[in-house]
Amino acid sequence: MEACRNAAAHRSTWTVDVRRANHSAFNGYRRTSSPYSQVRCHICGAVWRTKAAYVDTLPDSPPRPACQACTRAAGTACRICHQAYCASCLTDHHHEGYGAPATG
Ligand SMILES: [Zn+2]
Ligand SMILES: [Zn+2]
Ligand SMILES: [Zn+2]
Repeated sequence: MEACRNAAAHRSTWTVDVRRANHSAFNGYRRTSSPYSQVRCHICGAVWRTKAAYVDTLPDSPPRPACQACTRAAGTACRICHQAYCASCLTDHHHEGYGAPATG
């Protein structure tokens, strides 16, 4: 997790994923108090944790869609039906007649 290296140009796109807490899809969305917030740069894609005061001046990140299959945070979407899926569920998600054939 490295901070954005071009704060002067990118800072206007920074948003806060998690304010002063540990909170992620990987711990089941349990929220524990922490002095650190998770900040995201929407230009270079950097994600980092900081307890700097500038966090208070940044807007919250928009909520990310949940996977249609397992409800974890979706990182991608089906290019055919445009539903949100996480990477592992998208691997198993196919539409007959579109490229990858349905198996089983
Ligand atoms: Zn950046
Ligand atoms: Zn999933
Ligand atoms: Zn689909």
